[in-house]
Amino acid sequence: MSLRISALEYVQEVQNGNISAEDYVSKTIEQINNVDENLHAFLQINSEAIDNARQIDKKIKSGKNVGACFGMPISIKDNICIKDSKTTCASNMLENFIAPYDATVISKLKQQDAIFVGKTNLDEFAMGLTTEFSAFGPSRNPWNLDYVPGGSSGGSAVSVSAFECLASLGSDTGGSVRNPASFCGVVGFKPTYGLISRFGLISYANSIEQIGPIARTVKDTAFILNMIAGLDPNDNTTIDNSNQDYLLGIDSGIEGKKIGIIKEMIGEGIDSAVMSATKNAISKFQGLGAVCEEVSLDMVKYSVAAYYTITATEAGSNLARYDNLRYGYDFPVEGYEFNSYISKARRKFGPEVTRRMILGGFVPSSGHAGKYFLKALKVKQKLTQEIDQLFKKYDFLIAPTVPVLPFKIGEKIDDPVALFLVDINTVTANLTGKPAISVPFEISNGLPIGIQIFANSNDDKSLLQAARALESTVKLPEVPI
Ligand code: GLN
Repeated sequence: MSLRISALEYVQEVQNGNISAEDYVSKTIEQINNVDENLHAFLQINSEAIDNARQIDKKIKSGKNVGACFGMPISIKDNICIKDSKTTCASNMLENFIAPYDATVISKLKQQDAIFVGKTNLDEFAMGLTTEFSAFGPSRNPWNLDYVPGGSSGGSAVSVSAFECLASLGSDTGGSVRNPASFCGVVGFKPTYGLISRFGLISYANSIEQIGPIARTVKDTAFILNMIAGLDPNDNTTIDNSNQDYLLGIDSGIEGKKIGIIKEMIGEGIDSAVMSATKNAISKFQGLGAVCEEVSLDMVKYSVAAYYTITATEAGSNLARYDNLRYGYDFPVEGYEFNSYISKARRKFGPEVTRRMILGGFVPSSGHAGKYFLKALKVKQKLTQEIDQLFKKYDFLIAPTVPVLPFKIGEKIDDPVALFLVDINTVTANLTGKPAISVPFEISNGLPIGIQIFANSNDDKSLLQAARALESTVKLPEVPI
């Protein structure tokens, strides 16, 4: 039995009695034991995974109702709470934090008999795009171990790419699902804002972030979305998707659709291999019967600045709770007055989180708010107006997910601004609330390139159809792991 199947193939094989959940999960754990020492996708492995699989096999044998996952092994980014397990956000601050409840996405997947094989590595509190800011060491790209896997959901993308699970959940505040998916050659989906409940996701920037699936195929992505999307009384920002079936009609194609190529996302600084992949993707879309033309989204040039201003402000407020009085680590209070205690306790945060908190205290402060925070909100509003205008004329917009190829571990770590700029093509979807997906498209010099497709709010289903159409034109080499 090979691990190299899709999630939907797994379900089929288990249903047909060709494989058992226990076999597949045991093999998955074996794979993790073999490859994860090098890859470091996981922060914790669920020691009960094989037992859980055995229980599901029993349920199947006894003819009881079994959930749609049939014991499928899934990995979870370590900023999503699973009751009674550690949820560290890859931070020393939460090193020993045990989540007291399940995130809504976790309860939904449990109901469908998914098995959580482990918690995956990320940049501390999801701030970053390489996983190098994890307090517990970076993850590595399975296509080339010297390279970053992207981030912040780097561990999730690595685990899917290296057959350490069948699918994963990440979170995407400014690209953290799509960026690592692109760098690791897998599919990453950021839904319309509100489509997936954020209850139980440890907040970074609530007003724009979403949990999103990472999978090996577009169909698997739709399958996971079917199980986790929809209204949640615990998250007031969720939207009613009327139990939409995202798999149904996924092969409908994109004949006659109008696609805009975002000019500002293929401009200055784009790698020539990424540019050539984008041109090839445009030809594929045309071959599928779509009409493609270049469009302009002028505010993109201010999007990264606006994104970091808004997210730092929200992060500053969200992270204020980590004062080591309510959650935290063992650090006695004796000998300190209140302020000096808290500032000392907060030194547990790593450099990137500290940078964001300092920025987040400054940009919305009185005397500066008009110049920075309020201006950033105006950019967000204007960008949304511009993209809404485009969606009156176009069904989809496209751009490369990331303008550059994966780079070497350590290469950009000391240059935060260079890192911020890598987000130029992903933050727009978050700032405007639109759904966007990264589809693995080409391998250049052994490193993956993803193509990103955007759709209008609540058009997640047709977005998945477009992604499936593009995917059907692609045959990538096997990941060398
Ligand atoms: N690189 C971006 C940031 O650091 C995106 C992170 C994310 O989407 N969580 O904010």
